[in-house]
This record gives sequence, structure tokens and C-alpha cells, in this order.
Amino acid sequence: MNVVVVIAHQDDEMRCLGTLLRYRDEGHRVAIVCVTNGNRGLPFTDESTLADVAAVRDREMRSVCAVIGADYHCLDRGDGAAVADLELRNQLVGVLRTLEADVVFTHWTSDYNPDHVATARAVIDAALFTSLGSFAPGTAPLRRPPGIFHMSPGDGYGYEATHFVPLTEAISTEKSRLIRLHVSQMGVLKHMRGRDYADDVAEEDRRNGARMLVDAAEAFRPCLSERRIPWPDSLPGSEVER
Ligand SMILES: [Zn+2]
Repeated sequence: MNVVVVIAHQDDEMRCLGTLLRYRDEGHRVAIVCVTNGNRGLPFTDESTLADVAAVRDREMRSVCAVIGADYHCLDRGDGAAVADLELRNQLVGVLRTLEADVVFTHWTSDYNPDHVATARAVIDAALFTSLGSFAPGTAPLRRPPGIFHMSPGDGYGYEATHFVPLTEAISTEKSRLIRLHVSQMGVLKHMRGRDYADDVAEEDRRNGARMLVDAAEAFRPCLSERRIPWPDSLPGSEVER
């Protein structure tokens, strides 16, 4: 199975990172697509140019992808400037076709960050057209559109998780280590929130796990738009654990 994560920024994959590790361990192919280059992700470093920041984000994202064995693609929109326009939709149609996406993970449709919302909208729209050859010609249409899982945006955005992926202690530990490979963002988030972001995500995973009577889990909600609904066996381990 080809698993494609489409996110706005380098580090947004932290909401499904444990699941990606499980996919990797099961031999599935994983790719990460970032819509923006993250070039405004270091607001507290006055001397950094936008290009320098983008280079840092790129390096950090690639270090995570190397561990997962994931392909990495950046659509190079400016940070904070993602818009669900026709160009982005067509770019995503092309990328999802090239990667032969079976299942896609992306943001929820309501969120605190406009880049996240634009990305989610563009993914939903692009997925529909992946199987229709008359749209975005130049890449071969898929047999059927990929299913879509939305990642949790956190509390307060009308998101109710329905699907859970249990994480072992080893996966959780590795997930925290990989989140911390985004060294620049760990510093930014520590400055903004005064807390270690990897610890915060681990706490959320434990809360999700408690609902399933396991130590930790990641939580998802399927897109219920016709033809973009994930199949029941789209999540790792779903066949053996359900
Ligand atoms: Zn983000």
C-alpha cells in the first residue's frame, strides 16, 4: 500500500508519526508531501533569511523521512501563504497520481492555522480528480481515488476521532525522538508554550490510548466524502487487531 501524508509544514506529521512507523514496519511505502517550505517558522531568529529557514526546515524534514524510509516532496508555497487554489489542486492531483496513493493523511478541515485548512481542502478536492483523466492531464489517472484520514488538530475544532492506531512503547519512544529531530521547531514551541512539544504529543497519545485501553494511540477521522472514504483495512494492523 502507498501511504501519502500531505501536510502544510515540516513537523505536522507528528500527529501520525507513530502510524507511519507502523506502516514502515509492515512494509508499506510512505511519502510525505509538504505544501509550504516552512520559511517563516523561525520568527525569533532575526538574522535568518527566509531561504535559510526553509533550508533548515528541509534538512530537518529529510532527517525524519530518512528514518521512515519516506520519499519527501515539497510544493514550495511560502509559509503562511497556502491557498486552496486551482494550481495547488492540480499539483496535488499530479503528486498523488505519481505516488499512486492508496491512503492519504492530512489536516482536519477546521483548524487554528490557515495553511492547515487550505491543505485539507485542497487534498479533499484533489483526491476526487485523481481518477478522472480529463483533469490535470499529464499524469496517469488512478484506478480509484485514495481514501483520506484527517489527523487530529487538538481540542476545540469539532473533531471527533473514530479510528485509533495503538502504539507500542518502542514506537512511542521512537516517535518522540523523531519529533525532536525538528530541532528548530522544538525551540520555537518551547519559546511559545514553555513546554516540550514531543512531551505534549506523547501525553495526547496516552489520552487517546486510554480510550482504547492501550498505553498510547494515534487518533484519526476518515473523510466521508463519496469515493474518498478509506477502506476498513487502510490502517496498519487493522486486519489482525480488529
Ligand atoms: Zn503546521
